[in-house]
Amino acid sequence: MAVSLRHLKIRHQILVVTLPPLFVLLCAVGLFFYAYWMAIATQQAASRAEQSLARGESLLRNLTEMFTSARDFALTGRPEMAADYQGALSEVQYNLKVLRSLEAETPPQVIEVDEIRAEIERLNNNWAKPLVDQVKRGQRPDISAVLPEGENIMASARSKVLRLISEDRAENMTTVDEARRTMGRMLMLGVTLAVLLGAGLLLVTRMVTRMIGEPVLQLISASEQVSRGEFNPALPPAVDNEFGVLSRSFAHMTNVVRREREEIAALNKYSEAVTQCTSEREVHDLLMHWLRERFKPRQVIIFKLNPQENFLEVVESLVQLPEDRRAWPVIEEPHKCKAVRTGRYFRVNDVTAEPPCPSHFALPGEGSYYCGPLIAGGIIIGAVRLEGLKDFWTPERERLLESYLSGAASALSNLRLLATMTEQANVDVLTGLYNRRFLEDYARKLLAMARRREQPVGVIMMDLDHFKTFNDIHGHEVGDRVLRQFAKTITTSMRETNLASRYGGEEFVLLLPDAGPKACLLVAERIRLAALHMVVPSVAERPLPQVTVSLGIAVFPEHGQTFEEVLQASDKALYESKRGGRNRATLYLPLEEPAS
Ligand code: GH3
Ligand code: MG
Ligand code: MG
Repeated sequence: MAVSLRHLKIRHQILVVTLPPLFVLLCAVGLFFYAYWMAIATQQAASRAEQSLARGESLLRNLTEMFTSARDFALTGRPEMAADYQGALSEVQYNLKVLRSLEAETPPQVIEVDEIRAEIERLNNNWAKPLVDQVKRGQRPDISAVLPEGENIMASARSKVLRLISEDRAENMTTVDEARRTMGRMLMLGVTLAVLLGAGLLLVTRMVTRMIGEPVLQLISASEQVSRGEFNPALPPAVDNEFGVLSRSFAHMTNVVRREREEIAALNKYSEAVTQCTSEREVHDLLMHWLRERFKPRQVIIFKLNPQENFLEVVESLVQLPEDRRAWPVIEEPHKCKAVRTGRYFRVNDVTAEPPCPSHFALPGEGSYYCGPLIAGGIIIGAVRLEGLKDFWTPERERLLESYLSGAASALSNLRLLATMTEQANVDVLTGLYNRRFLEDYARKLLAMARRREQPVGVIMMDLDHFKTFNDIHGHEVGDRVLRQFAKTITTSMRETNLASRYGGEEFVLLLPDAGPKACLLVAERIRLAALHMVVPSVAERPLPQVTVSLGIAVFPEHGQTFEEVLQASDKALYESKRGGRNRATLYLPLEEPAS
């Protein structure tokens, strides 16, 4: 699943977490600008109040100068006084103008300035200007008569100006105080915001660490646990972001690894067990057991290919096969089984959707099946059919089943090879009879059993007569043919339960379980006569002379307690046959112990 960075849920979650501190930061910036603006505004107000104060004081000075210059001009008549009066008047007017504009933002004070202007105009128009004009015209006004009125108006104007000045001063003080308080508040707010911002950042760091750091650490520790073979690691909780996805896929991956480990462990166990099987039946049982355990199939059929007789034998099935399946064409004609014919598996994941195997073996209802050959050393030795649920087969399951089948096939092949090798080691190459070693092993076991069951065991020892001479005359090659023919003569004259062996050279030993002296004598006689009549194929022009055989018979437990003793007794009897003229069978006769 390809996820672009932009669409990562964790990204959105981090953004959500960072929003509150971001908001606080924006507030802080806003407040900073507000504080800055406030500071400038306060500074402007303070400067305006200061200017008003200065202008008010200047107005007061010029007003006083205007009044005194007019009064002194009236008293003295000196023209420079008249000039001073004019100068002071225009200063007063200018001051009034500036003051009005400075007080423009405080309407009550504008009214006061207007009142001051009206009072000054009253002083000038009603008192100072007429007085100056009279003196300029050369008249001598009675100063003492008009002075009190002038002083009254002057006092009134002066008090108004003083009130304005005191108000400006008070305003100035208030503005400065206000500015100080504002700055103090701003400082407090700034500190609070800084603390809030710091706390917010800490919180964001903690939350982001929890959102990213904790799951990362948990995933690292989980992967370490899995690498140590612990398949139940503590995983990050199933959160709704990419870590949740990662956690789920990690859990899935862990399950897959655990399952694979279990499969490998089971396969190893099976492989070990299958190599220890001592019979084909055991291999089949084991294979059936493990297939049932690992695949939970509905049916398993194990076939064994019989190449000589060309048919597939059902050696085992999980569910007993119904009667009509006995006539299943594949059994009679193995080449119809795809797995056997091609040496490759054949599987159908849904019998209702895919064409089934041409063997026309129909599964009941729906499901799937898999037929795999059992191949050992490149040779097909059988097949296994496994029926399961619909869509059961995945490449992993197919590979796993192949491993089980190849394990069974190689075990079966090893068993067969071992059987062949054992047979080869026990069988005489020339005659196909058992050799001396096998005879001795077998005889010992047979005697032990006979002893328990209290049954006799007959031993017939045979030796071809004058065989050295035969060889000398007709050659070793013809001698071999005689030996082979004689071996066949023995096997056709004996019972199935008897065991014939070539003891060495031209000597043979026959073991007859549950046979007493009489039965042994009969068999020995039959062999002797059969040897007389046996026809040895020969390329020589001369017909071969009749071959005779001498036989010695001894019986367990009558003539010996161990095989060696019985064999020795039979040898003695054989010697008696030779001594007696050969071509005869002699039963061992124990010599009477000389009386002491
Ligand atoms: P007797 O009647 O006393 O048994 O005389 P014999 O010649 O058979 O006695 P002996 O045991 O001396 O000779 C056995 C001969 O069997 C010697 C050997 O040439 C022959 N022989 C032993 N093994 C083989 C074999 O594998 N092939 C052939 N062709 N001859 C063998
Ligand atoms: Mg001999
Ligand atoms: Mg001989």
